[in-house]
Amino acid sequence: MPKLSDVIAVLEEIYPPQWAESWDAVGLVCGDPDAEVGRVLFAVDPVQAVVDEAVEWGADLLVTHHPLYLRGTTTVAATGFKGRVVHTLIKHDIALHVAHTNADHADPGVSDALAEAVGLKVTGPLVADPTDPAGRRGSGRIGELPQPMTLSAFAARVAAGLPATAAGVRAAGDPEQQVRRVAVCGGSGDSFLAEARKAGVDAYLTADLRHHPASEATEAAPVALVDAAHWATEWPWLTLAARELTGRATDRGWPLETRVSTRVTDPWTAHAPMPYTP
Ligand SMILES: [Zn+2]
Repeated sequence: MPKLSDVIAVLEEIYPPQWAESWDAVGLVCGDPDAEVGRVLFAVDPVQAVVDEAVEWGADLLVTHHPLYLRGTTTVAATGFKGRVVHTLIKHDIALHVAHTNADHADPGVSDALAEAVGLKVTGPLVADPTDPAGRRGSGRIGELPQPMTLSAFAARVAAGLPATAAGVRAAGDPEQQVRRVAVCGGSGDSFLAEARKAGVDAYLTADLRHHPASEATEAAPVALVDAAHWATEWPWLTLAARELTGRATDRGWPLETRVSTRVTDPWTAHAPMPYTP
């Protein structure tokens, strides 16, 4: 049975912490480096429902994409929900490790998993990482569909390829316009709207798009936008990460069990479609 420090070393080999943005908070949040690890649960959000699932399954390590604490804190008292999460984890000997923007920037990373889930063949990063001489790592990905399709058909393909959420999938642009080359960015990707435009893609798939950036982007260039739930765009990465860890654990002869949480932790829980024709 490997120790937590051994498993973390492998996770940091796959997603080196130095690949994270300077503002990020990746790595071990709680856990004893000498504790034995047999079961690893992967999830997007370190929220109570996920931690409860880790307890029920008997996980020794929870790996999440989102940090529990992105900024400093002065208390982990269980009077707050984050403190409650820390207490539950420590009480049940469960470690928490975060792979966030270091997993975004990896090859393959979060956006590769998103591209694959919606049937795109990745051709390269949307924004290449200047520290990668091979030019394969970076933020977002550009990919191609096997054949052109309308924007509304592509939106339907995204909806079918991602786990279901109440928010569903929205698209901006002419529903009949043809889409073949697509940029994707798992999570909040509005900071890369200009790069998607510069890349000359037909559409850009991401999450959390707001009115003004979306309106300005579609006015400035014929780039269609496809917006899915933040959680849904990052969830496909969990299977990829679990597969990478399992592969390396097998190479080392570790009897490691991995599981991907299917609990929907997207905060939006209801959606009321309106009768509308553009
Ligand atoms: Zn995210």
